[in-house]
Amino acid sequence: MATATKPRRKAEATRSFQTRMLIDGQWRDSQSGKTFATINPATEEVITEVAEGDAADIDLAVQAARKAFESGPWPKTDARDRGRLLNKLADLIESRIDELAELETLDNGKPISESRHGDLPLVIDCLRYYAGWADKIHGQTIPVRGRYFCYTRREPVGVVGQIIPWNFPMLMVAWKWGPALAAGCTIVMKPAEQTPLSCLRMGELALEAGFPPGVINLVPGYGETAGDALVKHPGVDKIAFTGSTEVGRLIMRNAADTFKRVTLELGGKSPNIVFADADLDSAVNGAMLGLFLNQGQCCCAGSRLLVEEKAYDTMVERLAAASEKRKLGDPFDTTTEQGPQVDKTQFDKVLGYIESGKQQGARCVTGGERFGSKGYFIKPTVFADVKDEMKIATEEIFGPVMQVLRFRDADEVVKRANTTDYGLAAAVWTRDIKKAHSIAQRIRAGTVWINCYDVFDAAAPFGGYKASGIGRELGETALDNYTELKTVTVALE
Ligand code: ADP
Repeated sequence: MATATKPRRKAEATRSFQTRMLIDGQWRDSQSGKTFATINPATEEVITEVAEGDAADIDLAVQAARKAFESGPWPKTDARDRGRLLNKLADLIESRIDELAELETLDNGKPISESRHGDLPLVIDCLRYYAGWADKIHGQTIPVRGRYFCYTRREPVGVVGQIIPWNFPMLMVAWKWGPALAAGCTIVMKPAEQTPLSCLRMGELALEAGFPPGVINLVPGYGETAGDALVKHPGVDKIAFTGSTEVGRLIMRNAADTFKRVTLELGGKSPNIVFADADLDSAVNGAMLGLFLNQGQCCCAGSRLLVEEKAYDTMVERLAAASEKRKLGDPFDTTTEQGPQVDKTQFDKVLGYIESGKQQGARCVTGGERFGSKGYFIKPTVFADVKDEMKIATEEIFGPVMQVLRFRDADEVVKRANTTDYGLAAAVWTRDIKKAHSIAQRIRAGTVWINCYDVFDAAAPFGGYKASGIGRELGETALDNYTELKTVTVALE
């Protein structure tokens, strides 16, 4: 393993940041004058101070979004022109792709190769995908009884509050803005307090693209203050949230009083099932990607790796070897594969789970401790002989910690895979096509990958069963989240 080197913090050296909030097309300080620090997780140093929004700022932002939804140029903008604006934004992002990738890596800690070649291309693709939908949101004509002409319209749901997490900051902006803007909604977004910088930069680019004032408003701040105020505000029609299951539950409760539409994309404990007849080379690569991508900070991480008995020992051995080869360190080094966890809270939490795994008797095959002495780095960790009831097998860890469990047959593994409160994703590895599809049908999860993992596409719906969420993002289906259906009936005689 490489030693941690001091990140170059290129973005810091070459540009200043947007650190204020965007309300009604203007960049402003918070009304309280308060700011909060955003930290570089690779160095533990402050990058910059950012305006700290609270209920008063949210109120202003909602007023601006309401005004922009009801009057001004936005409601009169043709659907095709909304699509044109989204395409323009995608083009602007593409023209600054290196700068944006560096900003994301600086604030989040993810390796630059992932920001530049993973996240950013998906951001651009998502915006272009929804640009294409803007003028294709149709109603229907309906053959009702009697002399009536009946048709439906799909109208924008109104002002939407969007609360996003820190693990894929820019990608979450694209997943949220794309369908909302295509549908004609206006937005108040609260980025995560750990990673506000790329969202604010995207706000600058949205203004440059020509989105009218008030259509996109950005209020950085904390969840308990700014986020809470957004969820409870009577001027907001819908909340779209991505984050922890715990906060999702609270948001649903808080949104009930004002009957907001709510979509939630929450946590997971996704089963990744490897049969002995699988191509084990691919299964090892898929298990590594499925768990260690983004430092393990993925809601769909394949954190329960269930391996058929016959292949168990080989898989554990090969996973340990692959984990030991992973290159940790400076996220700005283009060869780095794993950066730091996003902040101290997450770092401590993940180390706590590692301790619990050891205490409950799981076998730590590799890793199991901090990497280096500065920055929130944790060695890729593999636990073998994990039992279903252990904490590390039931709770979401959100870090580079893999649990490998043993199974005997298909019925047993399906039952165990489904014995969880979550249902976000799953994968199955086998050369038997019948078995693969049969297992895919029986797993209670919103996404099932067969002989692959973490394959995302803007056109493919994503979301969870059970405690993993409500509703689906991406694809045509996400447009339903941002539209109300109106029935119009006309008497013909
Ligand atoms: P994580 O544990 O991964 O940080 P959270 O669910 O705590 O995930 O945070 C995801 C997003 O939700 C962040 O933008 C955070 O500020 C926001 N948030 C946290 N608590 C609340 C709350 N009570 N109301 C609204 N938003 C919240």
